[in-house]
Amino acid sequence: MIDWIRNKFKQIKRIPVIPAPKCTRCGLRATYDMTTTFNEEVIEFRLCGSCLEEYNALYNSRWIPPLVKKEE
Ligand SMILES: [Zn+2]
Repeated sequence: MIDWIRNKFKQIKRIPVIPAPKCTRCGLRATYDMTTTFNEEVIEFRLCGSCLEEYNALYNSRWIPPLVKKEE
């Protein structure tokens, strides 16, 4: 009986938990992988949704902000 329980526990392999990517600005879960260049250096970072909007508003001149619906 004890051997049977031991064998059961041996069969269960622990799957390593991959940590969720974090936003480099606020630390929340990131959903966007970004790359940028600064002084010919490639910088990779991750952003969440709200930080991406702020980033685009500051640095992306071709970015069109999402439409805002008027609530009545
Ligand atoms: Zn963020």
